[in-house]
Amino acid sequence: MGTVDQHILQSIRAKAARREGIDREEAVWFLTQDDTATIDELADTANAMRARLLGKQACIHGIIEMSNICRRNCLYCGLRSSNAALPRYRLEEQQIIDLAVSAVKKLGYKMLVLQSGEDLHFTTEQMIRIVQTINKTSGALVFLSVGERDRIFYQKMWIAGARGVLFRFETTDPKIYEEMRPTADYADRMEHLKFLKEAGYIMATGPLIGLPGQTMETLADDLLLIRDSGAFMVSMGPLIAHPDTPLAGAPAVSSTLVRKMIVAARLVMPRARIPITTAMEYLWGDDFRRLALRSGANSFMLNLTPAEVRDSYDVYPNKNKLAEHLHTPTAFSQVNGIIEECGMKLCLGFGADLALSSEEFAIGCSMPQ
Ligand code: SAH
Ligand code: SF4
Repeated sequence: MGTVDQHILQSIRAKAARREGIDREEAVWFLTQDDTATIDELADTANAMRARLLGKQACIHGIIEMSNICRRNCLYCGLRSSNAALPRYRLEEQQIIDLAVSAVKKLGYKMLVLQSGEDLHFTTEQMIRIVQTINKTSGALVFLSVGERDRIFYQKMWIAGARGVLFRFETTDPKIYEEMRPTADYADRMEHLKFLKEAGYIMATGPLIGLPGQTMETLADDLLLIRDSGAFMVSMGPLIAHPDTPLAGAPAVSSTLVRKMIVAARLVMPRARIPITTAMEYLWGDDFRRLALRSGANSFMLNLTPAEVRDSYDVYPNKNKLAEHLHTPTAFSQVNGIIEECGMKLCLGFGADLALSSEEFAIGCSMPQ
C-alpha cells in the first residue's frame, strides 16, 4: 500500500472514530480497492459504527407490488412498456387494502411499501382511498413507490396519510440516466427528489448498481446524492440483466462491489437506514444477507405480493422465486434467525433513530424507546 493509500485509510478510520461521514475522494478510493483485508477491515468499521449509532435493531419492511403496468420504457426493466412478453396485472383496490391490513394485523409489519410501475390507472382519488383506509384500519407507516407523479398528487397523498417514498434516482450521471430511461427526464427526477423532501416525506433513494457506463466515481456521486437529498434510507441494488430488455446479457454485478457500496454508504452516512434489497437476496441468498448485516446494513424488504401475480412483477427475471419472500410467518422467522445470528434484534418498524413525533413513532416502530 502506497503512502497516499495509507493516508486515505488513516483519514477514513479517523472520521469513523469521530462518527463523521467520509468524502467523495475517500469513497472513490474505497470503491476501487480490491484488497480483501482492506475491504474486510472497513466493513468491520462500518458494522461497528452501525452498532454504536443505531444499536442492534434490524428492521423488516414489507412491499406490496400493486401493478406491473408501466408507461415508461426503461432499458433495464422487465416492466418496460415495450415488453410484450409479460402478462400484466393490476391488483384490485380492496385486495391491496386487505393485503396491507393483514400484513399488519396478522404478521406484525409496521411499515409497508406500495410499489408499482408508473400506472396512471391508479387515480389520485383511488390512491387516497387506498392509503387512507390502510392507515385508518392498520396504522401502518405507508411508503409509496409509484414513480413520477406530480407535486399535487404527492401533496394529496401526504394528507391522506402516506409518510414515505421509495424513489430511486437510479444514477447521478445525466447521460446514463437519459440513455437508460428514454421517456424520462433527468431534471424531472431531481426535481421530484427535491419536492418529495420538501413535502415532508421520509425518503429512501439511491442507484441501480451496474448500469452501462457507470464508474466508481459515478457510484461515489450516487452516495453523496443520497446524503445531500436528505434521505433517511438508502435504496440501491445490483442490476440483473433481464432477457426481454435491451440490457439482456449485460455483465453480472459482483457481490463484492455491492458489499463495498453498503460499506461505503455506511461510511458516508453513519446514521442511514441501509436495507438489504430483494435483488441482493435474489442473487446471493442468505450468505449475502449475513455478510451485508455485518458490513453496515440494517434492514430488510420482504415481499408481500400474492402468489398468483408475484411472478409477473418481473422487474428482473424470476424476481420473486425466493421461498423466504412468501407471505408467510415462516419467511419472517427465517429472516429473524439471520438477524439474531448476526447479533442483532428484529424490529418491525422504524427504530428509535428516526426523529418522528411520539405519535408517529408509536405507529412506526414496535421497539421500546
Ligand atoms: N416504477 C417505479 C417503482 C418500481 S421499479 C420507479 O421506477 O420508480 C423499482 C426499482 O426496480 C427501480 O427503481 C429500479 O432501480 C429497479 N429495477 C428495475 N429493473 C431492474 C433490474 N433489471 N435489475 C435490478 N433492479 C431493477
Ligand atoms: Fe417502469 Fe419503474 Fe420499470 Fe422504469 S423502472 S420501466 S418506471 S417500473
